[in-house]
Amino acid sequence: MQNQAQIGGNTLPELAQTFQQIFHTNPRICQAPGRVNLIGEHTDYNDGFVMPAAIGFYTRVAIAPRNDRKLVLHSVNFAEQVEFDLDALPTHGRQHWSDYVIGTANTLLQAGIALTGANLLIAGNVPLNSGLSSSAALEVATGFSLWELTGQEVDRTKLAQLCQQAENEFVGARVGIMDQFISCHGQENHALRLDCRSLEFELLPLPPNVHLVICNTMVKHSIADGKYNERRAECEEGVRLLSQYLPEIQALRDVSEAQFEQHFSKDWSERIRRRCRHVITENARVLQASAALEQGNLATFGQLMIESHRSLMKDYKVSSSELDVMVDEALKVEGVYGARMTGGGFGGCTINLVKAENVENFAQTIATRYERVTKIQPEIYVCTAADGASRIV
Ligand code: ADP
Ligand code: MG
Repeated sequence: MQNQAQIGGNTLPELAQTFQQIFHTNPRICQAPGRVNLIGEHTDYNDGFVMPAAIGFYTRVAIAPRNDRKLVLHSVNFAEQVEFDLDALPTHGRQHWSDYVIGTANTLLQAGIALTGANLLIAGNVPLNSGLSSSAALEVATGFSLWELTGQEVDRTKLAQLCQQAENEFVGARVGIMDQFISCHGQENHALRLDCRSLEFELLPLPPNVHLVICNTMVKHSIADGKYNERRAECEEGVRLLSQYLPEIQALRDVSEAQFEQHFSKDWSERIRRRCRHVITENARVLQASAALEQGNLATFGQLMIESHRSLMKDYKVSSSELDVMVDEALKVEGVYGARMTGGGFGGCTINLVKAENVENFAQTIATRYERVTKIQPEIYVCTAADGASRIV
């Protein structure tokens, strides 16, 4: 079981000391968190609703200005240092960890933020490539620290948009805005309901007696990227079909469950019907879950998580046998309100809403049972909702 602890083996004083040893000055330190999505999966690119929370795993950046126009990036995780000229930054990624940083520096510069040369020491403890968005944590932590260094106040929504743009255009990953948005706007002990079209959001208090427990199946199937694009195309096809009857719709977000039942023709593809039904019912579930949370009704919230998982498994078909085992076994353990896969699917993690008093037993039990069935040793992360990006030193 892993708790929210040291960052990449570096406590704050150690990070500052390492920076001193490498760059011979005292740094400022900023951090940005990873995230978990509580409900609202595959809705972001349909202009819909999501409900993530930032988690207490962070990427930290120790930073100090330089007298020249160089950006010097030193990664603790990769034990590697690279240098760039701010006035001649590359325009495309090269499949290297520094892409996320340079992409973000590029979009900040294009947005008119007058960046200065700087030394950056980067260390993170968000598990990499596990669906907890270490990529957004890296973009937001470096974007925040570079922007903050200019002396201007950081506009968090703008920063989220610029980081998403960096990941879309420079890194080349077609991600929605959820990850960067929650890494910028997260708040301790709160989930955040986001309208991915208008970017309106509301922070929803999470009761103190529950923990967010993330179970990593340790499996990521290689079909994930191709299937993601396939699902996006299937949703677009659904919009095209439905717009024959509902000409005003732009995205599945604009279609209610009643309209869908009324207009989706039995003669159209069963596959497209199921994909659309997931997105439309999932959007409704996010709004219901948000109302349940406001009433402190965790039983209903948990039930909606379970329905979300079933819909992702049966209609959207993005689960995996490992994720299904992790969810099924979790629901048998005492103190679990709800469990579901989280993130794009085909492996990765589940999110579990667990009573605080049962967390320790839950973590041990689920690890044992998952390993017994799959022969894979999982990782279990016990979290509470955390604050978004900030300067901490
Ligand atoms: P996820 O966002 O689910 O963790 P991604 O594939 O989107 O997975 O992003 C992971 C990549 O982001 C890593 O392979 C690495 O290139 C980069 N990255 C994330 N965190 C760090 C870090 N602390 N230091 C350097 N690179 C990092
Ligand atoms: Mg990512």
